[in-house]
Amino acid sequence: MKIITEALELQEFTKNSNKTIGFVPTMGALHEGHISLIKRAKKENEIVIVSIFVNPTQFLKGEDLDKYPRKDEADKKICELAQVDVLFFPHAKEIYTDDEASVLAPKVRGYILEGATRPSHFNGVLTVVMKLLNIVTPTNAYFGKKDAQQLNLISLMAKQFFMRVNIVAVDTVRESDGLALSSRNVYLTHEQRKEALKISASLYLAGKMVSKNILDTKEIIKGMREMLEPLEISYVEILSRDFEKLWHVELGNTIILVEAKVGSTRLLDNIWL
Ligand code: AMP
Repeated sequence: MKIITEALELQEFTKNSNKTIGFVPTMGALHEGHISLIKRAKKENEIVIVSIFVNPTQFLKGEDLDKYPRKDEADKKICELAQVDVLFFPHAKEIYTDDEASVLAPKVRGYILEGATRPSHFNGVLTVVMKLLNIVTPTNAYFGKKDAQQLNLISLMAKQFFMRVNIVAVDTVRESDGLALSSRNVYLTHEQRKEALKISASLYLAGKMVSKNILDTKEIIKGMREMLEPLEISYVEILSRDFEKLWHVELGNTIILVEAKVGSTRLLDNIWL
């Protein structure tokens, strides 16, 4: 596995390769969720490139940028074992200068859900993803459905900016008890981890209600909110795959999304129906 820290070197590498490239951007502290993206990329491309970059511009003031988990050596081992061809591990100064152009998230879809409480978050996400995609110029880029709004906005950006990349959505990987894997799960104490299970449980409840033909979104949200108590809920929403409000679940076109705080840790989860 080649480890590259400079954008120009990676650009040189990809320019001279006439193979299909699968790209998996991450912020490190890799877990089975990231590994499933890498495996999918391995299956569908001749070369796989993973980036690890904790992107400062997507953190708001007072968020966990400084204490975001960093596991550089373990991450390198994981990538090597997963037979990643190139690991891109840039310094922040390689990606950002003092005076920067940036991508702005769309005014509606970028400012609901996550964007409502973290107003500049998706500007930072889209800007770094644009930069990384321009450095790597992959054939396919892999993103988790776990971050459904992020995935939606990245797909929109790729389409609206006529970018030559295929954005691939990968299913959420969970622990056997249902908890969605997340680098932030390391913040949870044993007790908080138990509490966090209410999030996936509320989504399973929603799935069960739908299988009993309860399709009214208000009713489902009410049931989910009850199950989530006493967690601090940021939102429970039932939206179409285009992130528009739904009054009734439409099978094949619905995402149910939850964000709740467990202690001081924000956890996201969703199911696609
Ligand atoms: P992160 O390192 O948290 O920025 O995540 C990097 C990529 O991995 C993003 O596309 C995430 O959506 C994806 N990802 C994170 N957690 C999971 C999971 N549990 N299952 C599948 N993909 C995930």
